Amino acid sequence: MSKAVKKIVIVGGGTAGWLTAAIVAAKHKTDGKNGLQIVLVESSDIPTVGVGEGTWPTMKNTLQQIGLKESEVFARCHAGFKQGGKFVNWVHGNGDFYYHPFTVPLGYGRIDLAPYVDKIENYAVESNFQHSVCEAGLAPRSMAEAEYKGQCNYAYHLDAGEFAEVLKEHCKNNLNVTQVIGTVDKVNLSDDGAIASITLKSNEQIDADLFVDCTGFASLLLGQALDVPFISADKVLFNDSAIALHMPYDEDTSPIATHTIATGQNAGWIWDIGLTHRRGVGHVYSSQYLSDDEAEANLRRYLGPRSDDIPVRKIGFKSGHRAQVWKKNCVAVGMAAGFVEPLEATAIMLVEISARFIADNIPPDTSLMPIIEKRFNQQMAYRWSRIIDFLKLHYMLTKRPEPYWQAHTDANSIPESLKDDLALWKFRGPITADFDAAIELFPAASYQYVLYGMGFKPDFSRQPHLYNEQANAQKIIHRNQQLTQQLLHTLPPHREYIERWLSTQSMR
Ligand SMILES: Cc1cc2nc3c(=O)[nH]c(=O)nc-3n(C[C@H](O)[C@H](O)[C@H](O)COP(=O)(O)OP(=O)(O)OC[C@H]3O[C@@H](n4cnc5c(N)ncnc54)[C@H](O)[C@@H]3O)c2cc1C
Repeated sequence: MSKAVKKIVIVGGGTAGWLTAAIVAAKHKTDGKNGLQIVLVESSDIPTVGVGEGTWPTMKNTLQQIGLKESEVFARCHAGFKQGGKFVNWVHGNGDFYYHPFTVPLGYGRIDLAPYVDKIENYAVESNFQHSVCEAGLAPRSMAEAEYKGQCNYAYHLDAGEFAEVLKEHCKNNLNVTQVIGTVDKVNLSDDGAIASITLKSNEQIDADLFVDCTGFASLLLGQALDVPFISADKVLFNDSAIALHMPYDEDTSPIATHTIATGQNAGWIWDIGLTHRRGVGHVYSSQYLSDDEAEANLRRYLGPRSDDIPVRKIGFKSGHRAQVWKKNCVAVGMAAGFVEPLEATAIMLVEISARFIADNIPPDTSLMPIIEKRFNQQMAYRWSRIIDFLKLHYMLTKRPEPYWQAHTDANSIPESLKDDLALWKFRGPITADFDAAIELFPAASYQYVLYGMGFKPDFSRQPHLYNEQANAQKIIHRNQQLTQQLLHTLPPHREYIERWLSTQSMR
């Protein structure tokens, strides 16, 4: 029997829980009277994962939509601009590097510059200015530009704990989300297999029309109570462990990197994220190829002796996702739905996308729930496979000799869909038409930057008649050189910009 959807209960108060609450509440403008009630239940005993400091450019729109000031987020979360990723030692392991910047190549969508660049490894430099902006440590915008604007596309590096606090405060104070502190002890099912209510350890029982499972790796509602199986991606992506620490800067005035630095190691990679008050640094690795002690030694070698007294925190994880993310009246968001290693910071982006889907599709009554369930499950299955393929692309073209890297090149570890893509890209590279689904996560540009950065050169000579725009391409490449010089002379250093900008904000 169908009934009106009037109450949503979100279980879990990590980034996924509070971000979902904010996105749904902002869209539905819950004012306590208009019918939709949003309750978030969080445990004071079970900690959040406490990592997840790199975001995707989608976060700019998300923060605006939920009504947060960018400068407030920067000040409270010690944030920095993230203009892309720098991948060091992923090809040979001898100091090689390439960028995956967030700004698309010049001429994108009109002309593909790849057939015309001098060296395919330099594709990001020749087609786009952001590589040089990052290398020079410059902010993506000048003092004259407004919040959320910029000459280069960007996302953020944020202190994960502070970010959840900012979201929580905003949800409670401005978006009418009700917070309940309590640990869920039992999930009660109704006769039709849907979730009827949850019981807290305090014995309080809470019912709802829709439950959002944001309980992290526990996947308490979807995975445990509704028994939705987990599909592992460990045959494709081998990492299952991470150690992390907070590293102080040498000096208060030390430069802040404006990109995530991902440095390849013998059996994994190290992330290095610059916030204004510290760096967040961690080593992701495969326990099959590296012990925890070896990983810690790698991390300390990377950071130098100043890290010796700083304790590391170990986090184990399983790469993969639930077979379905929506079942009956329960949808999982964040790590309760799945997680595939932190490369390219896809997790919080998926939270944003999932929460937006929920906000856009909350039906007036439960009779429509099966349609929404089916649609969201189809979309998310596609997205998981795309993410897994995209992350695998970073590994499979390596020339590094260590067993971990060589195993990544083994054909048996490469999904068929990625093999198909590679077969086409061998003669023409990735093109926008390969990624024209409305629910696509990464544009062709992202694949181009990674593929070419790893040294993959399509054989454009097999269809030479397609590539006779030499003069036009050279004009764009020249224009990129001019723009690069212009930006190098006008954009301020990253730390200096943030400090000056925030000081002008606090004076207002
Ligand atoms: C090593 C590592 C690095 C990462 N780096 C990035 C990155 O750079 N970028 C990115 O986008 N993502 C990253 N992620 C993922 C990111 O951290 C998460 O997607 C994000 O923090 C959201 O987590 P969550 O809210 O789903 O889970 P959690 O933070 O684990 O929160 C779970 C919540 O559920 C609550 N809970 C659990 N059980 C119960 C219960 N029984 N009753 C009541 N409440 C309960 C807990 O108290 C907690 O509030 C990383 C993950 C890892 C492991």
